[in-house]
Amino acid sequence: DVAEYLGIGVPEIIKKLMSLGEMATLTQTLSDDVIQVIADEFDKEIEIVTAAEDANADPTFEDADEDLEPRPPVITIMGHVDHGKTSLLDAIRQTDVAAGEAGGITQHIGAYQVHQDDGRVTTFLDTPGHEAFTAMRARGAQATDIAVIVVAADDGVRPQTREAVDHAKAADVPIVVAVNKVDKEGAQPDRVRTEMTQLGLQPEEWGGDTMFVDVSAKTKQGLEDLLEGLQLTAEIEELTANPDADASGTVIESKLDPGRGAVVTVLVQRGTLKIGDAIVAGAHWGRVRAMSDYTGKRVKTAGPSEPVEVLGFDTVPEAGEFAHVVENDRKARSLAGERANRLKLEQQARRRGNKRSLATIFDQRGGLNELNLVLKADVSGSLEAFEDEIAKLPQEEVQVSIVLAGVGGITESDINLAAASDAIVMGFNVRPVGDARQLADREGVEIRNYSVIYRAIEELRDAMQGMLAPET
Ligand code: GDP
Repeated sequence: DVAEYLGIGVPEIIKKLMSLGEMATLTQTLSDDVIQVIADEFDKEIEIVTAAEDANADPTFEDADEDLEPRPPVITIMGHVDHGKTSLLDAIRQTDVAAGEAGGITQHIGAYQVHQDDGRVTTFLDTPGHEAFTAMRARGAQATDIAVIVVAADDGVRPQTREAVDHAKAADVPIVVAVNKVDKEGAQPDRVRTEMTQLGLQPEEWGGDTMFVDVSAKTKQGLEDLLEGLQLTAEIEELTANPDADASGTVIESKLDPGRGAVVTVLVQRGTLKIGDAIVAGAHWGRVRAMSDYTGKRVKTAGPSEPVEVLGFDTVPEAGEFAHVVENDRKARSLAGERANRLKLEQQARRRGNKRSLATIFDQRGGLNELNLVLKADVSGSLEAFEDEIAKLPQEEVQVSIVLAGVGGITESDINLAAASDAIVMGFNVRPVGDARQLADREGVEIRNYSVIYRAIEELRDAMQGMLAPET
């Protein structure tokens, strides 16, 4: 395939690979780095697009300005455990006037909407937390428009609050802070504001540009203000979509139901999804047989920012997968088949070469390179010391930015963040926990472990000058 794309004979490519020390066969899968090197050797300009990026970058998905209409904002709630994410999602759900009409019955489909009296609508993804948020991002999905960070007024900023802020910032989504549990005795909403300011989120009322809203999931105080604030933020962001196009969106949740087959919640982001549409999501396809909304009501169509449960997929796509409608079943099936093949090849290639590794960050061809890091340590002192040392490194050639610095073992959420931000993970006296190691292998994320800081800084300095030998 590489030979065909470059317009160069297969033997020549194999010869070139051998001269570069790579013993290649005709059907071997090559990593992105190797393909880039071959292209450079033959003086060809190439751009490598992964299957996920390809699906998101279809040029026919561009809309003319006059076709765009405002759409509801899509919200994710994040924050420290027990600060009230679930309670807040439940309390907000109860303010929905549409669910009231449906008899108050709501289904769990992974997302819901809130309709206000004045007709305005807000969509909430109801799997709270930054883990789900970043796992979706690692697959290339950009489903959230605004992140609400919940901080309990009686507890203040805690480690996962910091993480949530880091994850939201890495995704470049606007943040609204909900100061929860203000009903409690000992609540100190102003202390939360001070602590959040230290994380770079300064309240508007203190001259900054972050919106803070005091709420209580228990007494329902402030919920209207929060919805109002989200709508205001949405207006500033000018969120729009073309409702008349063929539908596309993101898979939010999916499961296999013994009676109904694949049950897939799709958040429509563009166009309108209809019964009978042929749809592809990654390596999965189907024809929309039936749809229901978050109240469980059967619907025939779903427009921008609407989550719907779709029946009709052949198999179960993963959350974060990009879904889009195509002309007919045949096209859907063949696209899904092609995607399955490409994903398999990409995975093989990824196993061969890391997506990004410390040894290869130095750009031999010159130009400024960026190095993103996810840092995890056993104690916060190490993190601070490390960050101080990094600040002292000369950054003319390679600019270092820290996507996340946290205390504790290396989790799957850290790996997903690294994959989504093209970052390397550095651990100080900590190890991967759970399935983090396997996920890192699958995603091509490099994890480097250190027991002393100076060693890490030494390696960083070497890497930044192109002097670090690859780890074997
Ligand atoms: P999560 O882990 O962030 O999803 O937090 P939960 O929603 O499970 O809430 C944790 C605990 O805090 C529960 O016992 C809730 O009842 C309580 N809680 C949540 N919100 C409030 C609130 O506004 N006021 C009070 N007093 N308690 C709350």
